[in-house]
Amino acid sequence: MQGLMQDWPLLVSTVIDHARVNHPEREVVTRTCEGPIHRCTYADLHGRAKRCAKALRRLGVREGDVVATLAWNTHRHMEIWYGIMGLGAVCHTLNPRLFLEQLSYIANHAEDKCLFLDLTFVKLAEAMQAHCPTIKGYVIMTDRAHMPETTLANAICYEELLSAEDESFDWVVVDERSAAGLCYTSGTTGNPKGVVYSHRSNVLHALAVNTADMLGLRSVDSVMPIVPMFHANAWATVFSAPMVGAKLVMPGAKLDGASVHELLEAEAVTCTAAVPTVWLGLLQFLESDKTKRLDTLERVVVGGAACPRVVMEKFEDNYGVLVMHGWGMTEMSPMGTASRLKHGMDKLPREQQLGWKLKQGRAPYTVEMKITDDAGKELPRDGKTFGHLLVRGAAIAKGYYKGEGGHGPDATILDENGFFDTGDVATLDAEGFMQITDRAKDVIKSGGEWISSIEIENIAVGHPSVAEAAVIGLPHPKWDERPLLIVVKKKGVEVSKDELLAYLTGKIAKWWMPDDVVFVQEIPHTATGKIQKRDLREQFVAYAWPAA
Ligand code: ADP
Repeated sequence: MQGLMQDWPLLVSTVIDHARVNHPEREVVTRTCEGPIHRCTYADLHGRAKRCAKALRRLGVREGDVVATLAWNTHRHMEIWYGIMGLGAVCHTLNPRLFLEQLSYIANHAEDKCLFLDLTFVKLAEAMQAHCPTIKGYVIMTDRAHMPETTLANAICYEELLSAEDESFDWVVVDERSAAGLCYTSGTTGNPKGVVYSHRSNVLHALAVNTADMLGLRSVDSVMPIVPMFHANAWATVFSAPMVGAKLVMPGAKLDGASVHELLEAEAVTCTAAVPTVWLGLLQFLESDKTKRLDTLERVVVGGAACPRVVMEKFEDNYGVLVMHGWGMTEMSPMGTASRLKHGMDKLPREQQLGWKLKQGRAPYTVEMKITDDAGKELPRDGKTFGHLLVRGAAIAKGYYKGEGGHGPDATILDENGFFDTGDVATLDAEGFMQITDRAKDVIKSGGEWISSIEIENIAVGHPSVAEAAVIGLPHPKWDERPLLIVVKKKGVEVSKDELLAYLTGKIAKWWMPDDVVFVQEIPHTATGKIQKRDLREQFVAYAWPAA
């Protein structure tokens, strides 16, 4: 027997329509690239997204075409997203932190038809131009007064483009499984690969992210996604906030501690999300001036890389802000877990609570996880045994754009049970909490046992003199590999190798203790803000361990 319920297509346009009807006056606030704060409402944004879709159609963009953006989190970027997707075209967010060759490779691979860009990226787009023949037009996301001199061919002023249109546009009703977004993984190995989100996966993912143990956004919230829209959908916030009518605060290009703090306070932000480096910056800023507070902030999502213990402790103990550790990846839309305490855990002593909260967390409905050994055999969920982390779910990639990296006739990236190997090594426990040990390629194999580089790094950055720490495995004559601790000191302070090793003592197993500590000016990062371990290993290829 068939169910007799309506077939209501899960299209991204329904999200912004919902906000328009139910939360028309709720604000979207932006720190613009031109400088001033801009305020509009969901009703305004909805209207401008319709104008944008109409303009795109007039420019010749059709269903299924790929339209690229090179832009910060702003109201304009958001209305362009909804405009592109509402036209049935595919919104391709380019990551401006990538190198020119990578960006050009990606734009060509995606066959981007036109490019919307912020003022900040005019020079970058000019450099790309000669290498990207598929891009036929450039739209600079500003008004006439701020239009720059540029060599970009047929550069259009965004505000002029919109003002030539009206709002009478019917969203294109595509199949809910058709492509809505395209985002390339940063490709730490091999070429970047395109993850193609569908309307359906975006809507289901935003619903999952809005469940109470995940971000759990509500109409009363004021949400500031610091994580960029070009980094895996700003962790779904650009969909999940309008879905519930939460106020959105878009930080634009200024992500330093002072600028972030200013917006958090001025816009009464209750929930915000970013990678750990942003939070380390904010906390350093707060510590530089003890009068500074976080008056409205209730919860902070920390993800993209492991949350250092100091970040959680300082937010929670000094500022009374709840920290949610999250894990995910571009291929997962991206959120896979969040570390909210379960029933009964709120009664535990603080130290035990931290033990749970510092894990990467539990999966929401729509995400399944398991761990396996090298032969693919499932391993126990005992919180101790670690193995390859595999995932399956409603908003997880089954292949990459144009079949890259896949196998078989449909170029799948899944195993025979439909699971995707995340490339992470992790433990799972009986409560459903997952803890990442390492990226499979970064795990340190010492005497047949595995050492978690992430865990040592996170303890090391807790030392008051350490700004950033990385741990890599380097070849060792007796143990295969041993850990080397690489440290960037905070400005104006001194700390020695022995002091750091003494600090780690008792916090990690003896045999995990780094064999040496080296101090550097800077640690290299990927375009998504993660420590670039491959470069570090290359940098230290000629390194020799101190004589025992
Ligand atoms: P990239 O394009 O740099 O690969 P992703 O966001 O897709 O960007 O990276 C996903 C990877 O980031 C995960 O597979 C995992 O290794 C790492 N990661 C994300 N969140 C966490 C976290 N909370 N703790 C540890 N590692 C994390």
